[in-house]
Amino acid sequence: MVQALSVCGNASSIHSEGRQARAIVEKARRQLGEALGVSPGQVVFTSGASEAAAHALCPVVRAGGSEIPVSTLYVSATEHACILAGGRFSAQNVEVLPVDATGTLDLAALKDALAGHDRAQGSPMVAVMFANNETGVIQPVAQIAELVHAHDGFFVVDAVQAFGRIPFSATELGAHFILLSSHKIGGPQGAGALVLANGSISPAPLIRGGGQENFNRAGTENVAAIAGFAAAAGLAAGANGKTAGEIGAIAALRDSIETGISTICGEAGNKAGQPVFFGHGAPAGRLANTSCFAVPGIKAETALISLDLAGIAVSSGSACSSGKVNKSHVLEAMGVDDELAVCALRVSTGPQSTGSDAEAFLGAFRNIVNRIAA
Ligand code: PLP
Repeated sequence: MVQALSVCGNASSIHSEGRQARAIVEKARRQLGEALGVSPGQVVFTSGASEAAAHALCPVVRAGGSEIPVSTLYVSATEHACILAGGRFSAQNVEVLPVDATGTLDLAALKDALAGHDRAQGSPMVAVMFANNETGVIQPVAQIAELVHAHDGFFVVDAVQAFGRIPFSATELGAHFILLSSHKIGGPQGAGALVLANGSISPAPLIRGGGQENFNRAGTENVAAIAGFAAAAGLAAGANGKTAGEIGAIAALRDSIETGISTICGEAGNKAGQPVFFGHGAPAGRLANTSCFAVPGIKAETALISLDLAGIAVSSGSACSSGKVNKSHVLEAMGVDDELAVCALRVSTGPQSTGSDAEAFLGAFRNIVNRIAA
């Protein structure tokens, strides 16, 4: 990435500086393709997953020389805001499907929705996240893909949280379009990709103008960010992805944190309620590094500030994209009542997190419980 910053050429220019920039972008495309198990030409670099979503969620899909109209977008209620916004579908053409108490998409509801879809108006498109950013809950992507294909629909998978955490091959996922974000795997912010997992099918371009990204996404490439994204992908996924043993060790660390939380809340003398861990029992499991929980009576905002003062960065259950803690639409969709939802904290471990980090967190958490609920 640092090397790329010193290359001043525009990747579309013919001069040698331009060719150097082009070489960096194309190397990055190969690296990302390798990490995903697709050919480089299937990778479209974007400014992030939100742009990739706005691009993929399109009422016109191109297959070879023809254009296929898509009339309805079906999404789960726990999707990221960039999916719930519906891309280029108008609000009345977006149907939100329920999840169960574990946060798993209600497959019967999806089946009914697809069975009732009016094909005369256009194809259905289904967009679902592989793993949830608040709870870590994994969706049964293979079963969803089967249903979508049985109804000749298009399948969009938001793999932002799963990439680098769950080994997968983009071609075996059954998705037409896959969304990725660089900063979720340790790359720079402001880069991502739309992966055309079914090579011959692409959404109509979102940003039109120049012929960059094989006419899929106009605009001069962010060469350094793309280089950083691909380097991070090369380290985190594909052949360098996590083994089952490594994922097991990450889950064991997360489980030790959850056991510690329960122990602290159960200690004699404190009045904190017992913690509720969200997403436990989800049929497809949870991401190994994520725990979302609430202790009744301990507000997330208070706990978050105390933990921050102790040098520990956690999030509230809700994504606070505007800088303030909002009610979580994910927990709401899972049927969590408002009083408990405002207590929801999300703890994620990183690749370098250790047992002593978990202990430091639990020590700081014990202080909060003792102070607030004693
Ligand atoms: N999808 C999920 C599951 C996410 O967690 C995020 C970011 O938090 C996004 C999409 C949006 O990604 P970006 O910030 O790259 O636009």
